[in-house]
Amino acid sequence: MLSLHCILMKGKLFIIVGPSGSGKSSVLLELKKRHPEFTYPLSATTRPMREGEKDGDIYRFYAKERFEDGIKNNEFLEYAVVHHDHYYGLIKSHIMEGLEKGETIVREVDIQGFDSIRAKIPKKNLVTIFITVPNPSELIERIVSRAAISSDELGKRKESMKHEFARARDCDYLVENIQGELNKTVQKVEDIIKSETRK
Ligand code: 5GP
Repeated sequence: MLSLHCILMKGKLFIIVGPSGSGKSSVLLELKKRHPEFTYPLSATTRPMREGEKDGDIYRFYAKERFEDGIKNNEFLEYAVVHHDHYYGLIKSHIMEGLEKGETIVREVDIQGFDSIRAKIPKKNLVTIFITVPNPSELIERIVSRAAISSDELGKRKESMKHEFARARDCDYLVENIQGELNKTVQKVEDIIKSETRK
């Protein structure tokens, strides 16, 4: 049964999922430029910071011990070990406060995060968007061209990808991200957000 607290939540959480290389992060980056009025909550991760990243932009970079303390203290709405390597978790307070205030919240997570969130956030406050590409072989090319990646790492990504594709049908919307047409993809996501926030 939903608590009164959940019944009163007015905002909407838009969760973007999709296989590695589908362009989720690029879509989100562009959306952030076009819509600074939306809320983009932070996640914590134990993966190393990449070049060009800053703590507090998209992630809080935690040591493993700090993350595990966060798990014990119930700081995460969900958390998962992604690609068999590092912890990732959505900081609960950012999401719940935003939903209570009626904000439009947008965040990407992996498929494990998607499952946990669906079990925790009422349907009326949640919209899920699956970003995909016309041809799955494109994904491998994109991942390999993006950064130097070991064959072991590539194997892990391919494995996650199979599970992720199978879950597209569980999402509310499916958006194809065609190579070179990022603007159109972002437009489709914007249209979904607009129509869902009007409901
Ligand atoms: P990256 O390390 O490339 O930024 O992200 C790796 C994967 O972790 C992506 O599939 C991304 O969607 C996912 N991810 C990012 N933040 C979270 C989170 O808070 N929770 C979960 N479950 N996955 C996340």
